[in-house]
Amino acid sequence: MVLSDRMRRSVRRAALAVLKTGGAFHLVQGSDWRRRRLSILCYHGISLDDEHEWRPYLFIRSQQLERRLEILRRGKYAVQPLGEALERLYRNDLPERSVVLTFDDGTYDFYSQAYPRLKQAGFPVTVYLTTYYSQLELPVFGLICSYMMWKARGQGTLDLRELGVPQAVVLDSAEARQHAVDQLVAWADGQDLSGAQKNEIAARLAQFLNIDYRELVAKRVLQLMNQREVKQLADDGVDFQLHTHRHRTPLNEEMFRKEIGENRQRISQAATGTRRHFCYPSGAYRPEFLKWLAAEDIVSATTCDTGIATPQSNPLLLPRLVDTSGRSDLEFESWVNGIAHFLSSRKRARLAYAPD
Ligand SMILES: [Zn+2]
Repeated sequence: MVLSDRMRRSVRRAALAVLKTGGAFHLVQGSDWRRRRLSILCYHGISLDDEHEWRPYLFIRSQQLERRLEILRRGKYAVQPLGEALERLYRNDLPERSVVLTFDDGTYDFYSQAYPRLKQAGFPVTVYLTTYYSQLELPVFGLICSYMMWKARGQGTLDLRELGVPQAVVLDSAEARQHAVDQLVAWADGQDLSGAQKNEIAARLAQFLNIDYRELVAKRVLQLMNQREVKQLADDGVDFQLHTHRHRTPLNEEMFRKEIGENRQRISQAATGTRRHFCYPSGAYRPEFLKWLAAEDIVSATTCDTGIATPQSNPLLLPRLVDTSGRSDLEFESWVNGIAHFLSSRKRARLAYAPD
């Protein structure tokens, strides 16, 4: 199975190289077919250290981002603000090679790694900001626990009974680590702990793992931008949009809309402008969400479903391309210029991201 996946990838890369050399990239890129479409790119984190080795689906290295921006610059892609590009998409009035850049969650590394590079390139960007951890100014609990266990993966077996994990944890096993993190998070949630109390649990876990937690916290790994940083970037022109307060989409309408209301209110404390664009946390959506979003005056919502938006796309179910560490520059280029959409069946990005 793994081998056949690898083979498919090799064949695909070889085919893309042939298509590029043969001029097909250029042909599609400048076509009327592509001009009617909008490629919305989705990023999460840019590594401060080795996060891309821990979660290659969620983090890329800053050098990779630089190469992507260079591809967009050299290919003369029209990188536009989200709201403006969507209006033009539905008016069928897009310029050639239209692209929008979006970053989900609003991690601190956006502030320190991504934004300076985007600013230098002169590209507009939308950040879908989840606000609970932005105000708490502490690492996202489940993620920091998972990251620390991964960092300690060479340390043998661990007794975490004190933290609600009944069995010995074999740190070398990704499955065992994930299971232990799930148990730890459930144990903390079961006691209804506050964010600050959960942080003490994470600090205790760090002690078990021989990790300097203070240093990790100071580095801002797996933390979100705080309100001051959001304000600074918003003043500089970054577009902050909705992603729920606690990165979750309750199945009850009142709770769902409360998540959006709280998120909107907290973003507005730091950023001027309007909040009418939404991104589904973890890419998860259900049919009933669409009318709840419309009732909240939301005009667009992006998913993590792979695709390129067309004037026929439902504005509350917009596809994107989730860029990951595993994509080569050639593959990336084939997605933004549109040719990959000819070659690929619709696939859904597999993301399991729940920072709470
Ligand atoms: Zn998210």
